[in-house]
Amino acid sequence: MVAHVSDYAIIGLDPEGTITSWNLGAEKLKQYTREEAIGRSFSMFYPEEDRRDGLPLTLLTQALDDGRVEHLGWRVRKDGTRFWGDVIITALHDEAGVHTGFVKVTRDLTEQHHLETALKSSEERLRLLVGQVVDYAIIALDPQGIILTWNLGAERVKGYTAEEIIGRSFATFYPEEDRRDGLPMKLLTEAREQGRVEHLGWRVRKDGTRFWGDVVITALHDEGGTLTGYAKVTRDLTEQHALETALRSSEERLRLLVGQVVDYAIIALDPQGVIETWNLGAERVKGYTADEAIGRSFAMFYTEEDRRRGLPLELLSIAKERGRVEHTGWRVRKDGSRFWGDVVITALHDEGGKLAGFAKVTRDRTDLKALEDAQDAFYATFKHDFRTPVTAIKGFVDAIRHADDETRAHLIDRVESSADRLLGMVEDLVEFASQRAGQATLVLADIDLADVARSAVHDLSSHFDPARVQIADDVALATANGVAMHRVVTNLVLNALKYSPPDSVVDITFDRARAGFLQMSVRDRGRGIDPRDLDVIFDEFVRGRMAEDDGGTGLGLASVRELVRQMNGHVSIQSEVGVGTTVTVELRSQASLKPSAPSQRSGSTSDEVGESPPVVDGSGDSAAASTGHCPG
Ligand code: ADP
Repeated sequence: MVAHVSDYAIIGLDPEGTITSWNLGAEKLKQYTREEAIGRSFSMFYPEEDRRDGLPLTLLTQALDDGRVEHLGWRVRKDGTRFWGDVIITALHDEAGVHTGFVKVTRDLTEQHHLETALKSSEERLRLLVGQVVDYAIIALDPQGIILTWNLGAERVKGYTAEEIIGRSFATFYPEEDRRDGLPMKLLTEAREQGRVEHLGWRVRKDGTRFWGDVVITALHDEGGTLTGYAKVTRDLTEQHALETALRSSEERLRLLVGQVVDYAIIALDPQGVIETWNLGAERVKGYTADEAIGRSFAMFYTEEDRRRGLPLELLSIAKERGRVEHTGWRVRKDGSRFWGDVVITALHDEGGKLAGFAKVTRDRTDLKALEDAQDAFYATFKHDFRTPVTAIKGFVDAIRHADDETRAHLIDRVESSADRLLGMVEDLVEFASQRAGQATLVLADIDLADVARSAVHDLSSHFDPARVQIADDVALATANGVAMHRVVTNLVLNALKYSPPDSVVDITFDRARAGFLQMSVRDRGRGIDPRDLDVIFDEFVRGRMAEDDGGTGLGLASVRELVRQMNGHVSIQSEVGVGTTVTVELRSQASLKPSAPSQRSGSTSDEVGESPPVVDGSGDSAAASTGHCPG
């Protein structure tokens, strides 16, 4: 049996160490055949240096003394190569107790030896490495949390040297309050149960200062699964923590700031356009609360037709491509009403350059849009309106060339009236523009408005039959500017004549119903103004629903309002469709109202005052009529 064992070299020696038996394992391991080996000394398997030291003999002596000896070391094969042998030599005795020799069992452990050596050196390297890591405190704890090892990083982060801390509990690093709460032991328990635990929090250095530690504790087990202790890695993140805290508080400030902006809807979208944040402005502009909007697609603000043609997603893809996109158009509020939105969408990217979503800022420009529309409409008719008198003049001039004397005189009148109309429109514009620019500063004095009215009507006599305008026979003193009042009367009388039948009469009357004020009313019996237009009829470029193609600019009443305002007065309008319109200008006045001398009258061919004037006060309202009121 022994002879056939091949994993162990089992050989017999006589008391002097001479080989007496040899097995298959011995032949395999040491390469000598039975014949070559038997009779020779076993010392031939030992390296030169061991033989010089007398190791083979020492081993035999020891085996004889102790009964057996074990030895690990390099041995030599027949070809001179070495192997790491694990040798046991046992002394043999016969029944009488006489020493008869030895049995020597050798096992080749070269491979295991290499592995062990490698492991030892890698452990050594790891020890050195851990010891010198300075950015992380890497320490070993026993199962109770007692510190077993200490590295440079631990010394740097926590301030203790290895001598000071090894043997103490790791709870030393936790603040008083955490220790009271039993946090250190809780962490060990969790690490034991879960395998590892991570914890972020304040820790205490030797000098009592605190640092923000990121700690990972890993449970360590031996091969049998018994807990042998813990590895604890700590990183000092105080700086990052301070940065993060600062960032958070600045983010918080920004969030509050954006949240409270009311003029702009500022919202965040995810890459698919789903609403992630909502501010007060968004609520105000779009009518949805945050709860109603967050989580839904921003496409819901777009009109049916814009959604159908894929506008919302198209805008996102342009923003993604070019960084940002601007768009102006109709948007829809929660209640279904529309607003004119001016939208900027900006693509947002994370640090890696990946699209993180979009910022969308929307402003409600409905007001601006209305003004723009009014202006557009004005410029559209502007061309037409100005062209009409010019074309007429050219036509008349052409006709004059071929006309007889009588017709010619008539045509020349027509040319003049067209030119006047044109001039009137140009004056309207110039006046309005200069008022807009704030250039007009009116010098005020006590003047007779009746007198101004008469001269204004007189100036219009080439256009209209002056008999159509009846001016009350008063001295109507008020604090005003003569030139401005002339413009006011001209505008009001022209409107009154223009929008009433050719045979109807326009009255200008004066009233002192309110103490300290004088009211001048221009009243016609014309078509009236649609009640829906009354509130805006004084606005620039507004011409009302009933405006015909009559060459107006929509600036006349706006000018009147502005001029009256500059004279510290105010103007109101009272109108009923089909019945007539009364515009009342109220100005400050200290004087009392008196009838004027008949010789001073002009512009009126009649002595009669006409029908009694309607009672129109500053906030002029009468039961039967709609009123547009304009505070000066
Ligand atoms: P314009 O007469 O040049 O159009 P205005 O500002 O003077 O501009 O008037 C604005 C509009 O108000 C007119 O286009 C007309 O429709 C209406 N309007 C003004 N005065 C009268 C009036 N007396 N009667 C009926 N409509 C009037």
